[in-house]
Amino acid sequence: MGNWQDKVRRVVPYVPGEQPQRPVIKLNTNENPYPPSPAAVAVLQAADGAAFRKYPDTDATELVNAIADVYGISADQVFVGVGSDDVLGMSFLTYFASDKPVLFPDITYSFYDVWAELFRIPYRQIPLAEDFSIRTEDYFADNGGIVIANPNAPTSLALPTSEIRRIIEANRDSVVIVDEAYIDFGGESVLPMISEFDNLLVVQTFSKSRSGAGMRVGFAMGSKALIDALKAVKFAYNSYTMSTPMIQAGAAAMRDVEYMKKTTAAVVATREAFRPRLEELGFTVLPSATNFYFATHAKVPAEVIFTELKKRDIFVRFWKKPRIGNYLRITVGTDAEMEALVSALTEILKAY
Ligand SMILES: *Cc1c(COP(=O)(O)O)cnc(C)c1O
Repeated sequence: MGNWQDKVRRVVPYVPGEQPQRPVIKLNTNENPYPPSPAAVAVLQAADGAAFRKYPDTDATELVNAIADVYGISADQVFVGVGSDDVLGMSFLTYFASDKPVLFPDITYSFYDVWAELFRIPYRQIPLAEDFSIRTEDYFADNGGIVIANPNAPTSLALPTSEIRRIIEANRDSVVIVDEAYIDFGGESVLPMISEFDNLLVVQTFSKSRSGAGMRVGFAMGSKALIDALKAVKFAYNSYTMSTPMIQAGAAAMRDVEYMKKTTAAVVATREAFRPRLEELGFTVLPSATNFYFATHAKVPAEVIFTELKKRDIFVRFWKKPRIGNYLRITVGTDAEMEALVSALTEILKAY
C-alpha cells in the first residue's frame, strides 16, 4: 500500500442529530412539526420532469427575487444556497481569509469550529457568561471576523439588536455574520441594518420556520459588495448548487408569508403552553426565542433522561460537553407530541 494516507485532509466532522428511518417522536433536530407551504408542495407536484434535462439557473433568479420582494431589499443583496449550512460554509471561506482569529461563542452552533478547522481559519471561542448570555464587550477585541447565532443555539436565548449593533459598530473592519436560523420564532432581526453596515451578513434558512429542512434552501442578505464576494467564491467552487425544483418550490414557500406566520405562531403557542408543564416536572427552562427548549433537571441527570426517552422512541438532543452536559435541547413539536413527551417524562422522573 502506498503512502497516500499522509496526503489526505483530516477533519473532525460535524455530528448532526439522528434521523431514525422509522416513525418516532422526533424532537432532536429542530424541524418544524407542520408541513411546508401548500403552495410549495403544489409547485413540486406540478413539476415538469422533462425540464430537468437542462442545468438550473445559476443565479436562482426566481428564488432570489422572491426573497428580495418579501424582505423589501434588492436582488443583488441576496445569496442563496443548499441550506444555510452551505451559505455559512461558503461565507467562512469567503470572508475569513485573515491571519487574525474569527470570534464566536464557546457554546453555539457546533458547525462553526468545524468549518474553521476545515478551511484552516484561526478562531477563538469566547465563553458565554454564566447565564449563557453573550457579553457584547468580549467582541471588541482585534479579530478576523465575527459569527453570532441570534437567537443562539442550543441556548435558545436572543440577544437584543441594540447589542448586536454595538458589536458591528466596534468591528467595521471585519465581516460580522449573524446566523438568524430561528429568528421567525420571536427574535428581532438585524436585517434593517444591512443598509447601514456594509460588513453585516444576515443568514437565514427555510429549514425551521418554513418547514423545509428536507428542501435544503438557505439564504444570506447583505450589501452588494458582500454578496458579490460570496458569489465569486461560489462560482469558483460549484456554479449549480440550487436544483430547478427547489428554486421554484423555494420561491413559492418564500412568497407564502401568511402560512409561515401562521405555523410559526402555532409553534410559539405550543412552546409557551408546555413551558410550565416542564417546570412543574422540575426542569429549569431557559427563556426561548426559538422553536426549542434548553432545559436542565434539578435531580435527574440529562443523560439519563435522554436515554430513557430514547427507549420510548422520543428523540431529543444531548451533548456530553463541558458546561452543557446536564442540559437537554428539546424541539417544540405539535401539542400531541408534547403531551406524549410530558407523560414519558412523568413516568421517567417518578423512578427518582
Ligand atoms: C439549523 C441551523 C442551521 C442550518 O440549517 P440548514 O438546514 O443548513 O439551513 C444553521 N445555523 C443554526 C444556528 C441552526 O440551528
